[in-house]
Amino acid sequence: MDSLPDQHGRIATDLRVSLTDRCNLRCDYCMPAEGLEWMASEITLTDDEVVRLVRVAVERLGVRQVRFTGGEPLLRRGLVDIVTRVGRLHPRPRIAMTTNALGLSRSAPALAAAGLDRINVSLDSVRPETFATVTRRDRLADVVAGLEAAVAAGLEPVKVNAVLLRGLNDVEAPELLSWCMARGYRLRIIEQMPLDAQHGWDRSAMVTAEETLDRLSQHFDLSPATQPRGSAPAELFLVDGGPATVGIIASVTRPFCGDCDRVRLTADGQVRNCLFARAESDLRSALRAGADDEEIASRWQLAMWTKAPGHGIDDERFLQPVRPMSSIGG
Ligand code: SAM
Ligand code: SF4
Repeated sequence: MDSLPDQHGRIATDLRVSLTDRCNLRCDYCMPAEGLEWMASEITLTDDEVVRLVRVAVERLGVRQVRFTGGEPLLRRGLVDIVTRVGRLHPRPRIAMTTNALGLSRSAPALAAAGLDRINVSLDSVRPETFATVTRRDRLADVVAGLEAAVAAGLEPVKVNAVLLRGLNDVEAPELLSWCMARGYRLRIIEQMPLDAQHGWDRSAMVTAEETLDRLSQHFDLSPATQPRGSAPAELFLVDGGPATVGIIASVTRPFCGDCDRVRLTADGQVRNCLFARAESDLRSALRAGADDEEIASRWQLAMWTKAPGHGIDDERFLQPVRPMSSIGG
């Protein structure tokens, strides 16, 4: 089988597939309050096209994990069918999803039955008022119900992703960790990245991993977990001696680009070799022009080969990608 190497010795095996750029929340660090102009349906990949491209990645290019994301992947009508079909590929990839969990209380059993293996739920606060401020929607109860449904459907271990914003929810980090530990959810705190559509990211205002660790350490005894990190973005810490852990994803202050094994496919069929890439490779047009699997695979390999060694956020010449996070697929 072929693979997806780049010039810096990394091989991509983890494919993030964005199924839509639409969302039913408006998280402050991701989207403006008024939303965005959504992708036109003509350029959005059909379910068959998504499955075809994922098949090429899995069967020809060595992808071993497929993570569905967005926008909000639960808004994609064909989601259960897409998961079912990806679960039938050989070799079968691990199938994961990153979601805000709105509506998951209804769909978790069907998704688990279709073959979804694991789930990450984004939750930045367990206080209804703070949740509504960060996401601009009063939907905390739906997320909590979605998390409970994920556990009931066997989608464990459930991971919870949180982004901390100064003056909004940063002080709540210890409370969020206690809440997650009490329910068996594995919390991971992600540094805010310059990927919001409104370009409001400010390095000096960002809550750093170090600050988060300091704050958590005032309430918990944190010690570095000994298991090797590999390509995982989170640095894991044992909480009060374990077995509970908390993950810190310091994408900005302690980048892990050298170990990155990820590649992204957008809902309109563009391959992105990095979250911060400024170029994309158009597989949708190739597909619709009749390209066979071999040609798609070789275009994909070419796209990966030019992956930059790092995201360059600290570089003076850094430019935020034109596509925002909600359209790239986080
Ligand atoms: N809607 C789904 C969700 O929120 O989980 C999936 C898409 S969302 C873009 C994927 C992840 O990206 C979420 O965990 C979210 O918190 C994170 N995210 C979005 N914008 C971000 C930013 N500017 N910096 C860091 N993480 C961000
Ligand atoms: Fe939607 Fe996820 Fe972005 Fe929040 S982070 S606005 S839930 S896509």
